[in-house]
Amino acid sequence: MSSNSELKKKFLCPLPWIQLCIHTDGTQKVCCHTNLPHHISNTKNTPAKFGSKEDMKDSTNNPGLVEIRKTMMEGRIPLMCQTCNQEELKTGSSPRIEMLEKFEKDFEESFKRTDSTGVITNPSVKYLDFSIGNECNLACRMCNPYYSSKLEQEWKREGVKFNWEKVEEAHLFSRSKKMLPESIQDLELICFQGGEPLINKGHLDILQSLIENGKSQDIKIEYNTNLSALPQILLELWSHFKKVKLFVSLDGIGELQEIIRRPLSWDKFLLNLEKVKKMDSIEIEFVTVVQAYNLPFLTEIFDFVSKFVGKPILPNLIYLQEPGHLTPESLDADLLTQSIIKIQNYLDSSFINNEGKELKAFLQKLKPDNEKRMLFTIFNKKIDQREDKKWTDYIKRLLNK
Ligand code: SF4
Repeated sequence: MSSNSELKKKFLCPLPWIQLCIHTDGTQKVCCHTNLPHHISNTKNTPAKFGSKEDMKDSTNNPGLVEIRKTMMEGRIPLMCQTCNQEELKTGSSPRIEMLEKFEKDFEESFKRTDSTGVITNPSVKYLDFSIGNECNLACRMCNPYYSSKLEQEWKREGVKFNWEKVEEAHLFSRSKKMLPESIQDLELICFQGGEPLINKGHLDILQSLIENGKSQDIKIEYNTNLSALPQILLELWSHFKKVKLFVSLDGIGELQEIIRRPLSWDKFLLNLEKVKKMDSIEIEFVTVVQAYNLPFLTEIFDFVSKFVGKPILPNLIYLQEPGHLTPESLDADLLTQSIIKIQNYLDSSFINNEGKELKAFLQKLKPDNEKRMLFTIFNKKIDQREDKKWTDYIKRLLNK
């Protein structure tokens, strides 16, 4: 079977071919971009799990993943990949399109060995995407207990209804001894996510075992991190790896980052950023989750990132979809319009990367939503009443300037 460029344009994604993605509770997923709670099924038609020798022996050919590949090759969009499809319709880009560029060669090779039923002969996992439990030191406003142990404590104290069983599974996974399966011989890249991976002790064990078995020098490691903590031991361990890349969350500058990503200290965040910037072996990119809180202040974030990098550039932008009441449509109609104009003017006057085109397309589709705005107001009242840093005060102060 040869690669088909028309299929590639619309349907194919390298990740189901070359990646093993492990979710916070230890189950295998198609990738970290899907927002459906669906898991990859094993031969017993139950969720495939990291830690199960049988499930991980040939994780690439677990039946759930085979089915996804078959669907893509038949020119249809798998249910689990609707997130990417929706993003492509909204912005013209998506993680799928980015992955096609990033893994072009590995994907071509793997695709050649795929039969019409979606089974790959001699599969090779090049990329491990590892969400390593919900241990986290922050309780970001747009997050939930599945990804943050701090929010878990908070929501439990308040008696909030949630799928606590799933959270318990994340704990069990977090406490288990996480050893990489033997099948991952050709691994080139690991992306650690959380929770907050930099404070996760299980992840240190994995780094140490890769160093001990002599593999670390061939492996790049990446992190999605809030960079509010930077344990010294990591700096030593990272020096054994081929390359380290940090995708640093940046949702606001100064007080706004503290309001969204509570209880982060902006000063400490800056100190950590300076520390990693000084290390030549570490590459840094910023990630901004575009949401109601930061749409009015996005250009300040762009200025910060451009100054840090030394040229006009935008951070990687993720467009928040859940929870719906924190998406930009929740802003007051006037503020939403002003914010859109401000960003459009900025994009028109600066040299920007591809993210700029997507952002423009995204802005054009934004419409105020009264119901969301009401829920946004209620949500902020609840959170603000117990916080020193309050969104409602912040936005009033900034608007009256
Ligand atoms: S198409 Fe999107 S959702 Fe599907 S595997 Fe690729 S990146 Fe993930």
